[in-house]
Amino acid sequence: MKKIEYLRISVTDRCNFRCRYCMPEGNKEFIPHPEILRYEEIIEIIKAFTDFGVKSVRLTGGEPLVRKGIEDLISMISEIPGIEEISLTTNGFFLSEKVNRLKKAGLKRVNVSLDTLNPEKFTYLTRTNRSAFFRVLQGIEKAKEAGLYPVKVNTVLIKGFNDSEVEHFVKFSEEMEVEVRFIELMPVGGKFFSEEHFIPISEVKAIIEKSFGKLIPKKVKKMGPAKSFSVTGTGAVIGFIPSISEHFCSECNRVRLTSDGKLRLCLMSDREIDLKAILRSRSYTFEELKNEIGKALIAKLGIDGIEALEKLGCQRKMFTIGG
Ligand code: SAM
Ligand code: SF4
Repeated sequence: MKKIEYLRISVTDRCNFRCRYCMPEGNKEFIPHPEILRYEEIIEIIKAFTDFGVKSVRLTGGEPLVRKGIEDLISMISEIPGIEEISLTTNGFFLSEKVNRLKKAGLKRVNVSLDTLNPEKFTYLTRTNRSAFFRVLQGIEKAKEAGLYPVKVNTVLIKGFNDSEVEHFVKFSEEMEVEVRFIELMPVGGKFFSEEHFIPISEVKAIIEKSFGKLIPKKVKKMGPAKSFSVTGTGAVIGFIPSISEHFCSECNRVRLTSDGKLRLCLMSDREIDLKAILRSRSYTFEELKNEIGKALIAKLGIDGIEALEKLGCQRKMFTIGG
C-alpha cells in the first residue's frame, strides 16, 4: 500500500513575479497576514505529520524566498526527528543571494521554475524584466555551486509559447547539468488556461525522440508523479509530469498545506481541512491535531482517483496552493 511521505507547504501567497498562468497582473486578493501560519504553527503541523510517516517537506508559495526568515524555518524543520529531506520550489530570483544560508540551514534540494530560455519571452510570461531572467540563471548556477544537487528546472508547457523550445531545453539540461521537468499546464483557478495552450507530454516526448533518439527511463527511488529519462546520445536528464493527460492518483504520495493552514488532499480538489482553526482553538491539543491529520490521510488513501475529486472542483489559484 502506498504511503503519504511528502508534505508540500506553501509558506506565503505573495510573489515578486506575476506569471500569466498563475497570478492575475493586478492581483490584490492576498490572504491577510494574521491568517498566514506562523513558523511555530508550521513546525507543530510537521511534527504531527512525522508521526504518520512524512519524511520529506517541500517549501513553496507564492514565492517562498520572499517570506522573511525562511532560513530560520528551514533550520527549525531540519531539527524535527523523522524529517529526512527539505526541498524548495522557487522562481529563482532571490536564489543566488540566499542559497548559501539556505543550504547551511538544512536545505537539501531546489527546483527552479523557468518556462522559456528566451529573455524577452520570459519578461512577457512573468511580467518582470530581462534582468530577472539573468538572475534566475545565476540562481541556478549558485545553487549548483552550493551543492544542492541535482538542481531541477520546472518548465510548464504552453502551446504556441515554448513548444518550439523543447530541443533547446534538452541542450540546456546537458550543458547546465540540471534535470529539466516538463509539466502540463493545469486549469487551476486562472483565466490564462485554455485548451489551445495545452500540450500533452506525449507530444513533447515525440519531439525529443525525433530529434535526439530514444528516451531511456531512469531508475526511480521514490513514488511520485515525475518520471525521469536520459536522452540517447546526450547527457540530458528530462522529467515529465503529465498532471492532466495521465492521472497518477494511485501513485500520489503527497498532501499540501496552504499558507493559511488548510490541508489539501489533492491539488485538483477544494476539499480542505482547516488545521489552523484546530491549532488556534482555545482547547487545542497536539492529540487533536494528530487525530484530524490521521483521519485526513485515511481519506486520502481511500480516494480512488482524480475523477472522484474533480467533481469537487478547484477554485483556488495556484499561488495560494503552491503547485
Ligand atoms: N513561486 C515558486 C515557483 O514559481 O517556482 C513556487 C510556487 S509556484 C505556484 C510552483 C510551481 O507551480 C511552479 O513550477 C509553477 O510553474 C507551477 N504552476 C503555477 N501555475 C501552474 C499551472 N496553471 N499549471 C501548471 N503548473 C503551474
Ligand atoms: Fe509567482 Fe511562482 Fe506563481 Fe510565477 S508561478 S506567479 S513565480 S508563485
